[in-house]
Amino acid sequence: MTAVVAGRRVTRRTLPVAPTWWADVVGGAAVLSLLVVTALWTADRGVQELLAGPATGLTSLGRLAGLLSADLMLIQVVLMARVPLIERRFGQDRIARWHRLAGFTSFHLLLAHVGLTILGYAGTARQGVLAETWDLVATYPGMLLAAAAFGLLVLVVVTSIRAARRRLRYESWHLLHLYAYLGIALALPHQLWTGADFLASAAARAYWWTVYLLALASVLVFRLGLPAWRSLRHRVQVAAVVPEAPGITSVWLRGRDLHRLPARAGQFFLWRFLDGPGWSRAHPYSLSAPPSGDLMRITVKDLGDDSARVATLRPGTKVLLEGPYGRLTGEHWRGGGVTMLACGVGITPLLALLWELPYRPAEAVLLYRARTAEELAFRAELDRLAAERGVVVHHLVGPRGRRPAWLPAYAEGLSDVEALRRLSPGIAGHDVFLCGPDGWVEAAQAATRAAGVPEAHTHHERFAW
Ligand SMILES: Cc1cc2nc3c(=O)[nH]c(=O)nc-3n(C[C@H](O)[C@H](O)[C@H](O)COP(=O)(O)OP(=O)(O)OC[C@H]3O[C@@H](n4cnc5c(N)ncnc54)[C@H](O)[C@@H]3O)c2cc1C
Repeated sequence: MTAVVAGRRVTRRTLPVAPTWWADVVGGAAVLSLLVVTALWTADRGVQELLAGPATGLTSLGRLAGLLSADLMLIQVVLMARVPLIERRFGQDRIARWHRLAGFTSFHLLLAHVGLTILGYAGTARQGVLAETWDLVATYPGMLLAAAAFGLLVLVVVTSIRAARRRLRYESWHLLHLYAYLGIALALPHQLWTGADFLASAAARAYWWTVYLLALASVLVFRLGLPAWRSLRHRVQVAAVVPEAPGITSVWLRGRDLHRLPARAGQFFLWRFLDGPGWSRAHPYSLSAPPSGDLMRITVKDLGDDSARVATLRPGTKVLLEGPYGRLTGEHWRGGGVTMLACGVGITPLLALLWELPYRPAEAVLLYRARTAEELAFRAELDRLAAERGVVVHHLVGPRGRRPAWLPAYAEGLSDVEALRRLSPGIAGHDVFLCGPDGWVEAAQAATRAAGVPEAHTHHERFAW
């Protein structure tokens, strides 16, 4: 199937869609793994030891907490490895939320593991907690490494608490966050050498080796191997840099066989521009025009050091890419009417979708919100979409009002939902795509819900994780 995007003919790719039962399989596998861990602990006399006396009981409970914590950490590694079938089924937003939940849960279990184990061992040896801690770290094999792992994981979790994270530059936080991998690797030896389950049971050994290797393989294949292979294969370079509006720049990218990239309108990649210092930081930008022939386009708003650098890129600059990611694609469109709500640079994936979807004239409505008229990008392209494809475009320009709303201040006389119904009368039966800053997306989502659009027909992408 083809579509015409910004005057260029584009092949509309059909991406492999994970079947709906896939969600149950992934969720079921995670729950099952926690059950298996508990069963292995039970088989290794976990319950009997729990009831055998206070000290043995504490040690046994500490062991269970440690095993569940390790299991949850490995689940997180797989979740964050960007395995295409998981990423495409759930989307980065949801995965990032689960990652946060599982991360904090596994950390609390880790604290319980350390605390209960020390108390249990101290009780058995009838010595003080500090002396027992020293004994454990200094004499048991792998425990020094485990202590280092604990320190690293504490660092990762403390810097992920919202208040601390807000104070850190994104890049510094992300770099610290990667220490979690090292933490998990350093914790393995103490499980191998002193872990009662590992030593006692062949089934436990088989289980733990399988999950560790699965986690390692998913990182090596999907986070490192696939992006490296795609970057080498497609040899993407900057073709042209085009200013769209003050502080907003489009970058056309040229590469080999781009039509073979499994990317669709609405998706994003993590980009590294090899133009000097800063190349090591990957940034997510959505496609504002999906691959067509040997070209594709992104559009970037200058919001910080690296996004500002994009305007200074030179043609010929080499680019590494990781992706495509995201599920804001046309696969969710059921046919018929579609309403797109964009705020600021959130227009990028929606513009690509407007070119791609095969709606009929007047079936598509774009509500495009910006603070000032200068901030409206793609004016000429939107005029063409209106003329050639019959898209109904409404620009909603002006500063925010006092109440949290998706409308500008001048429209505050209308309720959010009333405005939505007037601008897109058929919205209740439409598929709705939204993209913009978090607070704005929330207000717009609330209005679409109130206008009668079921959750399943609303699709959005957050521009922050
Ligand atoms: C899925 C997705 C799609 C996006 N698509 C676009 C797009 O099409 N056009 C566009 O202009 N912007 C897009 N963004 C936002 C863009 O990634 C950030 O504005 C950009 O990374 C800022 O980097 P900086 O170093 O210039 O700014 P900084 O000052 O370092 O960061 C500003 C804010 O951007 C976010 N950010 C920074 N680096 C990253 C990163 N590597 N990963 C995730 N978030 C980061 C952080 O929340 C940070 O607080 C998208 C973001 C996401 C998550």
